[in-house]
Amino acid sequence: MPLLVMKFGGTSVADLARIENAAKKVQAEVERGYDVIVIVSAMSGKTNELVGWVEQTSKLYDAREYDAVVASGENVTAGLMALRLQEMGVPARSWQGWQVPINTTSAHGSARFVSIPRENIDRKFAEGMKVAVVAGFQGISPEGRITTLGRGGSDTTAVAFAAAFGAERCDIYTDVDGVYTTDPRITSKARRLDRIAFEEMLELASLGAKVLQTRSVELAMRYKVKLRVLSSFEETDETSGTLVCDEEDIVESKVVSGVAYSRDEAKMTLIRVADRPGVASAIFGPLAEAGVNVDMIVQNISEKAAGHSGATTDMTFSVPINQVARARKAMEEARASGIISYDELVEDTEVAKVSVVGIGMRSQVGVAARMFAALAAENVNIKVIATSEIKISVLIDRKYMELAVQALHDAFELEKG
Ligand code: ASP
Ligand code: MG
Repeated sequence: MPLLVMKFGGTSVADLARIENAAKKVQAEVERGYDVIVIVSAMSGKTNELVGWVEQTSKLYDAREYDAVVASGENVTAGLMALRLQEMGVPARSWQGWQVPINTTSAHGSARFVSIPRENIDRKFAEGMKVAVVAGFQGISPEGRITTLGRGGSDTTAVAFAAAFGAERCDIYTDVDGVYTTDPRITSKARRLDRIAFEEMLELASLGAKVLQTRSVELAMRYKVKLRVLSSFEETDETSGTLVCDEEDIVESKVVSGVAYSRDEAKMTLIRVADRPGVASAIFGPLAEAGVNVDMIVQNISEKAAGHSGATTDMTFSVPINQVARARKAMEEARASGIISYDELVEDTEVAKVSVVGIGMRSQVGVAARMFAALAAENVNIKVIATSEIKISVLIDRKYMELAVQALHDAFELEKG
């Protein structure tokens, strides 16, 4: 039997009517001849509520109990979905993570898959079951405790099952009808993409296009799982949504596929750091130890500064805005203990990051020039630039973020298919 994985996110199973709506989509695939593994999220808002209850009960909570509580949202949806399918005459049953079993590491709250043995589910399919409804986001540790995979983890569960069971495709049903060239709330010219390459999706996912958990895209890329994002609120068929696929399956790619943004960024600059071997490691080592997620880094050209024994430089880096205090503390402590020296730490918390992404950049020159020209035409000042093979990112004043996204969307003619 050909097999499909269908994943329904929180908004797609938010109440009993929506669960029924999702179940009908599953039934349609069964009628087309598929065996289906359905991965469900908790009903929308449920996981937040559960997390809240844990935090209200215990400030320094036991991470194993956090997982035991927070994983329960998915159990409810899985059971309800199986019941609804049975009511519709579709042979279905639910599976909690431990029943499969979905073996994970014991990193509670951010566990990773170790193995997903197929035997139990395969046996049920062989007996005539048509749909296995599996609770997303959870697993079981080697110690036999319930684990969770990190917020948004059901996407990753879905891809892992698609890989483990050799599914023809992994369909991610959500509240949007696909992946867009940029956020449609910022420009009405945003266009749904028919296809996007794994690598592009990875950049867009980690840049804040919140459609898919980044890890799910990494996993799909590694195992070449065809991943489709589509709406559970619309009539859908074979051609709906956006297919996230291998580069080779994209016939014609544009230079830039999408414009991503991340609003909550901060820029930190260490003024006059001694410029000597080991200085970068002396700065970014303590930041890493403090759990600060550094993104862009720029080191200025060295200057011989008056009043300093050797050459000095300025080091600028960006961090998520909610990590500024932690980063500052790490730097002040490193300075106090003599690991680094600097004159001043300057913070700019009014910045945002805007990026253009596209595999076409690998073979095209002048993309950066075109990007900078578009921003210049709008008088948007660029504060930091970072590039990779398929991405160019700039840090700009937050108040110009929307303007910059619109200008870049126009400049690269993303409204045209
Ligand atoms: N319910 C979990 C969350 O909200 C997992 C998921 O839906 O992907 O993070
Ligand atoms: Mg999600």
